[in-house]
Amino acid sequence: MRHVRWRFPLVMTAFVVGAVAAGSGQASSPAPAWLDAYREPASRLIGAALADTAAWARLAELTDTFGHRLSGSKGLEDAIEWALGEMSRDGLENVRGEKVMVPHWVRGRERADLVSPAPHPLAMLGLGNSVGTPPDGIEAEAVVVGGFDELDALGTSLKGKIVVYNVPWAGYGPTVQYRSSGASRAAAHGAVGVLLRSVGQPGLRTPHTGALSYAPGQPKIPAAAIAHEDADRLQRLQDRGHTLVVRLVMEARMLPDAESANVIGEIVGRERPEEVVVLGCHLDSWDVGTGATDDGGGCIASWEAVRLMKKLGLRPRRTIRAVLFTNEENGLRGGLAYRDQHKAELANHVLMIETDGGVFRPLGFGFSGNDAARATVKAVASLLSGIGASRIGPAGGGADIGPSVQAGKVPAMSLDVDGALYFTIHHTEADTIDKIEPTDIARCVAALAVMGYVVADLPARLGQ
Ligand SMILES: [Zn+2]
Repeated sequence: MRHVRWRFPLVMTAFVVGAVAAGSGQASSPAPAWLDAYREPASRLIGAALADTAAWARLAELTDTFGHRLSGSKGLEDAIEWALGEMSRDGLENVRGEKVMVPHWVRGRERADLVSPAPHPLAMLGLGNSVGTPPDGIEAEAVVVGGFDELDALGTSLKGKIVVYNVPWAGYGPTVQYRSSGASRAAAHGAVGVLLRSVGQPGLRTPHTGALSYAPGQPKIPAAAIAHEDADRLQRLQDRGHTLVVRLVMEARMLPDAESANVIGEIVGRERPEEVVVLGCHLDSWDVGTGATDDGGGCIASWEAVRLMKKLGLRPRRTIRAVLFTNEENGLRGGLAYRDQHKAELANHVLMIETDGGVFRPLGFGFSGNDAARATVKAVASLLSGIGASRIGPAGGGADIGPSVQAGKVPAMSLDVDGALYFTIHHTEADTIDKIEPTDIARCVAALAVMGYVVADLPARLGQ
């Protein structure tokens, strides 16, 4: 909701100088001798990232031109074609799409209405992978529950009813289970449909979609998220003793798998090309908003980081590879396919970094790896203190890189950002580029470029 401000020229010099001067500022132990060789290229990368609004402009082009990028959609495939062409024009090397078959779920038309005690249209979004209703919809008594304990206590009295999960936001981990498994848990008691308080921070009556998965052996019943305001209203009506009747109409359906691709572009390493540092993100999104934050921004930032190395003539010792994964949101097929297609190469993956928490003001990185590697990345991150991104957190990773990290025991990182807005707009119609500041995404590019470049160029392999 913030207004975009253009303020690069004023602050750029300070960032560049700060990055150089602060090299030894925040590291708790003395800076290692090898770090000095990286102050100059780090300064150049930061300067180039902050010199203009190229990253924001490219994200605007992606999201304005192609809109949402749900797996199976024309928008996603057109965006993949565009990215391949643009990456080639940028001079990235070995630009290619690696084929992945992805689920093809379509939402169709949908609505939910409170019928009784008084008619009221609910702000809703069907959950990804949900089945639809019969064409005429379903109309049933609705029962609001505060969690699985209450659900199970009601047991078979829920037969034929619509269950409304009104579970307050307690962070993504604890709350998302109601979205993932709530439909099958309710179906086990004979419920015919599910509505769910949106999994996210309260917005302005914006429901949040997201994937559900059906448990084998239970009937598949339709499920949708409703806005927090509507969940609260249903709760208050029930608490006053009203019997609720809800009508749900959803055309959602799963079509046969569609062909998609992971988009890859790299700079081949000058000495150890077989060793790879990956900058990863996912190009697919939900079918609401334009997936600017989740995760178009992560893809543009990762790609721009590699483009800037190319532009500045910085060819690291090892290969640096941007991977724009497909189908993170409702299948993770891109991450799984990368693991399988690069199985023989995973032992040579030196580091995988995922950017999927929004491209807000970067604070540093989460990191998972051995102590030697942690000490090294802490030293590298000190080069980012001038842009406030030198923090190394206790754990890093991401959904797309997860399968490869696990299979190859690869050190893993995630870009950490000031994500106060992330779960307000995530998976909603409000996930659009106006929520992203050009300075913030530029700083994300700088952080990824410096971390990626230095780790790819280190004299000794990370962690050894
Ligand atoms: Zn994401």
